[in-house]
Amino acid sequence: MSDVIHLLPDHVANQIAAGEVVQRPASVVKELLENSIDAGAQNIQLYIKEAGKILIKVVDDGVGMSITDARLSFERHATSKITSAEDLFRLNTKGFRGEALASIAAIAHVELKTRRETEEVGTCIKIEGSHITSQEPSSTAKGTSISVKNLFYNIPARRNFLKSDTVEMRHIIDEFQRVALAHPKIAFSLIHNASELFQLPGSNYRQRITNILGGKTNEKLVPVNEETEIIKISGFVGKPEFAKRTRGEQFFFVNDRYIKSPYLNHAVTAAFEGLLKDKAYPSYFLYLTVDPGSIDINIHPTKTEIKFDDDHALYAILRSSIKHSLGQFNVAPVLDFERDPNLDTPYDYENRAASNPKVEVDRNFNPFKQESGSRNFSSGFKKESGNWESLYTGLEGGNTETDVDIRQIEFESEEVTGNLFQAGRTEEVQNTTFQLNKRFIISTLKNGMLVIDQHRAHTRILYEELLKSITVSAAVSQQLLFPLILQFSQNEIALLKGIKDSLEQTGFIFSEIKSDSVEITGIPTTISESEVEMLLEQLLADFENEVPENNFSQTDLLAKSLAKSMAVKSGNLLNTTEQQHIVNGLFACKEPTLTPSNKPVFITLPVEELEKKFM
Ligand code: ADP
Ligand code: MG
Repeated sequence: MSDVIHLLPDHVANQIAAGEVVQRPASVVKELLENSIDAGAQNIQLYIKEAGKILIKVVDDGVGMSITDARLSFERHATSKITSAEDLFRLNTKGFRGEALASIAAIAHVELKTRRETEEVGTCIKIEGSHITSQEPSSTAKGTSISVKNLFYNIPARRNFLKSDTVEMRHIIDEFQRVALAHPKIAFSLIHNASELFQLPGSNYRQRITNILGGKTNEKLVPVNEETEIIKISGFVGKPEFAKRTRGEQFFFVNDRYIKSPYLNHAVTAAFEGLLKDKAYPSYFLYLTVDPGSIDINIHPTKTEIKFDDDHALYAILRSSIKHSLGQFNVAPVLDFERDPNLDTPYDYENRAASNPKVEVDRNFNPFKQESGSRNFSSGFKKESGNWESLYTGLEGGNTETDVDIRQIEFESEEVTGNLFQAGRTEEVQNTTFQLNKRFIISTLKNGMLVIDQHRAHTRILYEELLKSITVSAAVSQQLLFPLILQFSQNEIALLKGIKDSLEQTGFIFSEIKSDSVEITGIPTTISESEVEMLLEQLLADFENEVPENNFSQTDLLAKSLAKSMAVKSGNLLNTTEQQHIVNGLFACKEPTLTPSNKPVFITLPVEELEKKFM
């Protein structure tokens, strides 16, 4: 029998390699953006058509390429970034494999225009499925512009495998944000079809984060800074009360490269211990700088995973520096966040060494010698005591018109009607409520004070209502004017199918459940359309974390999760009617004292205890 082994032609090898590098349009975006950064670009524009299925184009003002380099750049293992294996341990570029352009050119129509600053004319190369179709001189701006059209045109299976435009665009935006967050000094823009999604001027880390995630982000950020021998940490964590229900805002960058690290993520979460609400994910934007020789980024083709030499130490340092930052914030929130900027250290003082204060001694000072100066404490007191006494004068007479007679104010009147409780209850709620700290509803009892946690109380009320509608009589729903289409992962869709019937009892109407999306035409009357996505996301996350064992616990978990998401949060201002609605609703519940997860809903403060405090 003759030999059977032969070498694969280059274009086939490239197609196979492309499978590793390019999974979807977002992978191309990442590679092209990284190449522009490696080329020292200061301005990078990303143009996308139809979620990258039609066009991905990156224009930069970096160093550009010579005619020969332009051609070579599409060869496999062609790179300008490393020359030997040792270089892998001192990487300061994003790319190094020399595979990206070759892979992309194997599975798309690519057009490259590039010019170096020193050259008058540039070059334009067109490639289709690894074959160069034309190369000619071109008058183009300094820098490089690469268009990638009809991705996967020659691999239909791949192309058909792509998700909906919304999903693919989400991936592109994710990649774009990661790169932009890692390089705040570079200006980036992203244009999809005809609309501009991002226009990010060159700035600093804080501004870049805020520009990407929205104006309110700034006030949520707590700075983290630490420098040790093995690592430098800078960046921000989100204040605990703004923690998210999903992992959306968690970013690690190591040497300016976005990475995923469940291990370091754990360190951050550990630092937040005790500060987060149930199943909330802290936001973080952490920039770690380590010796390039102490990491291995070579272990994954798309380079988002990384291996550290000394990950135990990194864990401990990360955790403690975040704890420290959060601690400072907790102890002195006023200083940290609502501070008067006038009290801040001026920037030019910040890095100056402190100078020792001069000590001046008045050798002639004699503490026993009486003199009329300000050092005479007793006379100072006497002078003021006159004014102090005058504070009383108005009260004694009580005869001017604006004066309030304290004796006439009655904080609580026995005659107030509106007893909310059946006879026999000892706690009587009067119809006077007010809100404290946007979190507690305070009400008076006949012999004390009632302090209700508004979120917990509302959760209890909704929980009991939901249980009733799921098990006894279905709730009404509000029809949506336009059906709402939400995207979910396959796993989530599977979960959703399992609880669809129960959800419909609460007022949801699902008109269609596809493999990666659902269409909703009706929702419970108690929520607004804008809340639906967040609510279902949370619900599915809860079901992923806690698999119910039987039907009863499924209903319970569903009611618990929905109640929690739907309930008013602490931090929401409530008017008197809303406050009373909650108080009334709570005490009409079967179990008003505890939340569905067994936390206390309210406390009472009897008059005797108050009296003790005044002894
Ligand atoms: P790698 O980035 O791993 O070196 P690529 O296939 O992504 O491999 O790119 C190959 C080479 O092409 C790079 O090493 C670089 O010299 C050149 N190149 C790619 N994109 C650009 C760009 N936007 N500007 C200048 N040179 C580029
Ligand atoms: Mg590259």
